[in-house]
Amino acid sequence: VQTEVIAFDIGGTWFRSGLAIAKNELVSVTRRPAINYTNTAYREISDLQTALVDYLVVEANRLRSEHASQGTRLVGISMGACINAHSGRVLNSGPLWGVDCVPFDLLAALRTRAPHFDWVIINDITAALLRHKDEPTYADAPRMTLITVSTGIGCRTYDARLHTVPVDPVHGVQGEIGHIPISFSYREQPIILTCDCGALNHVNAFCSGRGIASLIPLLSAKYTDDFHNSLLSELSQGLPGRVSVEDLVIAVHNLDSFALSILDAVTFPLAHIIVNLLTIDPEVEYVLFVGGVVNSFGSQYLESLLHRLDSIGLYQVTLYDPEFFKRRIRFGFLDDSSGLIGAALAARAYGAEGGNV
Ligand SMILES: [Zn+2]
Repeated sequence: VQTEVIAFDIGGTWFRSGLAIAKNELVSVTRRPAINYTNTAYREISDLQTALVDYLVVEANRLRSEHASQGTRLVGISMGACINAHSGRVLNSGPLWGVDCVPFDLLAALRTRAPHFDWVIINDITAALLRHKDEPTYADAPRMTLITVSTGIGCRTYDARLHTVPVDPVHGVQGEIGHIPISFSYREQPIILTCDCGALNHVNAFCSGRGIASLIPLLSAKYTDDFHNSLLSELSQGLPGRVSVEDLVIAVHNLDSFALSILDAVTFPLAHIIVNLLTIDPEVEYVLFVGGVVNSFGSQYLESLLHRLDSIGLYQVTLYDPEFFKRRIRFGFLDDSSGLIGAALAARAYGAEGGNV
């Protein structure tokens, strides 16, 4: 019998909660809009952080009292933020708390406010990876990586021998690939854009949902002939400034050549990162892709990525094994449940001692 766990998925746009009653089975799932810096009045960021603690405690108490799970102490939280996995400090959450974000000791705040629960906090990408690792398909993989491409980009690698997602011994982080600086270009012309974190030319600035949203109007205005011959022009009333990610998705599904060239440009940096990853760490057996951007572009996204990977190649490998990337790169679950399921798995695994994963 699996322990019941109260599970949360705290994202920049939605807060989800539910009860995990059996392996990967969720009941009483609800969601509400996130309490974030764009939709909630605040004087200091700490007001929003306190509001998050209030929400978590009230909702955990409600789930415990309203459900047959009375008595459960375990709470798992998947947090859409960069977390020091040793200390539980939330280092930064741009989507929740904006650029004025200050570090916050969420775990300590929860333990003080509601000591009758065992709180476990886990990064949302780690949560998604734990859910996949729990699937029989991936049981034998010594190492596997999950990359999320949504509002932002990040990845985590699971080590089956260590039974964990190893992190920096001091700083407690791993896989923040969205903030790697790159030289981005389109048709060999360099382009400069700003990341959510304020720095220039991070992977996020071009390849995340927000990055693509900034890139499309820029390219549409710069390459006017291509734009006007493209479905993108029709979808935006001929106004480059109005082309959205949704328009790009439609145009890509219609195999519009300008749109496909933009998709190829934003999958290229990720292809490069994967080549680096697999070159340095040959034990990574799968690289799974999840997230809103991947979901929207669907099979076209993977096809573009695989094309870019094959064009770069893996030295002394792909020459003899042309299917190498195809075997390793695949979609993960593209539903909204990975945060809740992963948080519950983490709480079961680490809940007795509490803390962070
Ligand atoms: Zn950045």
